Amino acid sequence: MTDGSPSGGWRSVYAAMGVSTDHEAPACPDCGDDTVEVATGRWCPTHGVVGA
Ligand SMILES: [Zn+2]
Repeated sequence: MTDGSPSGGWRSVYAAMGVSTDHEAPACPDCGDDTVEVATGRWCPTHGVVGA
């Protein structure tokens, strides 16, 4: 079945990207999931880098 929270993988990605998770992440415009602010915009785990 499910292996619990997939969010654990995110944190590893955040760390690898050098992104702070201390502030609130904006929501993905496509799926509404949390995104990470990156140099090119926002990064969604499902959609990759997304625009505003
Ligand atoms: Zn998305």
